[in-house]
Amino acid sequence: MDNELVTSIINEVVKRVQEESCIEIEASGKHVHLDRATIDVLFGEGYQLTKARDLSQPGQYACKERVTLIGPKGTLHNVVVLGPERKESQVEVSQTDAVVLGVQVPVSESGKLEGTPGIIIASGSSMIRLERGLIAAQRHIHVKAEDAGKLNVTNGEIVQVKVYGKRPLIFDDVLVRVSANYETYMHIDYDEANACGFVKGTKGKIIKKSI
Ligand SMILES: [Zn+2]
Repeated sequence: MDNELVTSIINEVVKRVQEESCIEIEASGKHVHLDRATIDVLFGEGYQLTKARDLSQPGQYACKERVTLIGPKGTLHNVVVLGPERKESQVEVSQTDAVVLGVQVPVSESGKLEGTPGIIIASGSSMIRLERGLIAAQRHIHVKAEDAGKLNVTNGEIVQVKVYGKRPLIFDDVLVRVSANYETYMHIDYDEANACGFVKGTKGKIIKKSI
């Protein structure tokens, strides 16, 4: 084989291996998930959220409804409600949003709300104080069960992800969540998106952590 052929084969193999461990990234802005009791207070007894747009994860959607978050130092308006309703309300903001609100917000896995601070949510003239549930979501990858083998990851694993943005960087402490109900996407917040020059379609490559 001549050198050119060898080089092109090597390049093709490298490209395919890279593509295999590459995942698409999505950036999530601040949003709230609401439980029944909170929806009742904010929008009225028995109110049903209005779906506006499907999200990448099956069954998850952005709603028409918007709320205001009120912290000790400031407020955040026009915060989108994501559906469907949850068992417990959860408010996800970036660290920049946390500074505006004037609350120390812990980085936490979605659903792990023990010890998290509360926040006031308002809609029109209605208002409710959540006792807990304000978090900065830990960056994570939703992995469709059938992709887990190809990506060589398991549920609950912590990996790094190298992002090929305008300002490439490696995110550490990325939680892998595997489920048959997921589509494979990494989720970061707007602070993280801005840090890596994220644009729609930005991809990242999973790097296994050595023990
Ligand atoms: Zn997510």
